[in-house]
Amino acid sequence: MGNPKLDMLLEELSSQQYHQAMLIALKESDGQVYQLLTREYERRQNTLQLMAAENQCSRAVLAALGSVVQNKTAEGFVGARLHGGCEVIDDVERLAVSRAKEAFGAQYANTQPHSGTQANHIVLTALLESRDKILSLALDQGGHYSHGSRVSFTGKFFDVENYYVDKETFLLDYDAVRDKAAKFKPKLIICGASAYTRTIDFKKFREIAESIGAYLLADISHISGLIIAGAHPSPINYAHFTTTSTYKPGGPRGGLIVMGKDYDRRIKVGTKDIPLWEHIEKVTFPGVQGTPYFNNIAAKAVFFEETLSDEYRTRQFKIVENAKRLANNLLDLGYDVVAGGTDNHMVLINVVNLREGLTGATAQRCLEECGIIVDMIRLPYDKKSASVTSGIRLGTPIVTKNGMSTREMDSISTLIDSVLKTVKMIGDSEYELDESFKTETRDKVKQLCSKFPMR
Ligand SMILES: *Cc1c(COP(=O)(O)O)cnc(C)c1O
Repeated sequence: MGNPKLDMLLEELSSQQYHQAMLIALKESDGQVYQLLTREYERRQNTLQLMAAENQCSRAVLAALGSVVQNKTAEGFVGARLHGGCEVIDDVERLAVSRAKEAFGAQYANTQPHSGTQANHIVLTALLESRDKILSLALDQGGHYSHGSRVSFTGKFFDVENYYVDKETFLLDYDAVRDKAAKFKPKLIICGASAYTRTIDFKKFREIAESIGAYLLADISHISGLIIAGAHPSPINYAHFTTTSTYKPGGPRGGLIVMGKDYDRRIKVGTKDIPLWEHIEKVTFPGVQGTPYFNNIAAKAVFFEETLSDEYRTRQFKIVENAKRLANNLLDLGYDVVAGGTDNHMVLINVVNLREGLTGATAQRCLEECGIIVDMIRLPYDKKSASVTSGIRLGTPIVTKNGMSTREMDSISTLIDSVLKTVKMIGDSEYELDESFKTETRDKVKQLCSKFPMR
């Protein structure tokens, strides 16, 4: 980035050559793992990655992830470490923090969470005592395990009530959220979703939280890239805490906590009165985590700088444009697109309503056999179980990163449609798909992907 000579050099190398060059050391010392990584590279290059929960980071991010700072052990935060030899990683973390603040327009950033889930664990642990109340979007309505699902510790130690989307429109019903909040009086309201295609009104959520004196956590894991670029409204100054995974917007694996105007609001901790941000750090370490992953923090720094580029910002709008195109194409082809379309990077489709006997699980499987990678997903009010589901979720971040635009979205819609309309359903979980059709489709997919090498 910003170095024309390097850009030219990289362009001359194909992705594959670059990948191999990076991994020469591994190839020599462990051929078995090297082969697996190469297989994954080839799988990604030769099939369509329509995953909403996935992205593809840059080579610079990969390089930072595989760098020497991974060896550093240092508990605590900058200026308050419990180990020696921290001068360099202190600078690394300072840089990551200042770039994260710039990317999100935030007053405070914490780059230490190991994942999006851990970032939520930290906020919940900071705010709640056991059996305190949380109000969140139900898991099978598009919420996330770490928002109080019964199978997560967040559902085990806290009392969780859920809000739901409207049964007809599948949109968030803010009046219903307000009523639930007034009755249940949660200490924390969580907004943000893993499967919701429309714009989230963070301002309304804050008003609801304010009306009952609750804290608001906005978990923007899926849409944080769009938010950085201004392709979705930002919660930073509405939510007390904003969390995100850092891989979904296109960075390294990991999590992030950012705070806006409430960052220095006071909170009572024991007999002390301290700012929220300081409390969050004490809960991060030693409350929830141990040593930070400095290679991930270095890679986060690289990624946050990338998000300031025109390329990144423009791309976020293209991601939305591509998702809208997919949704519209599929609507035209007679598909039941949940919530009637999309405002973000994902498209949810009810496949049960497309064809008798088709389920999310079988749709995912037969598309995958044809080289099209999607997720099955439970839709709001789904009658099918989590391992069967009525829906699939498509996402456009990766294909857009590799340079695909609306023209390619048209080809992709046609490919998806031909698979889902050709497959013969046998009973609940079996299907038949002609071998020559599969080979033909896989070849078409491979050909399309070959024009857009991994970037
Ligand atoms: C993906 C996701 C997370 C979890 O992030 P991990 O880094 O995988 O733990 C948390 N919240 C939401 C809403 C997500 O979509």
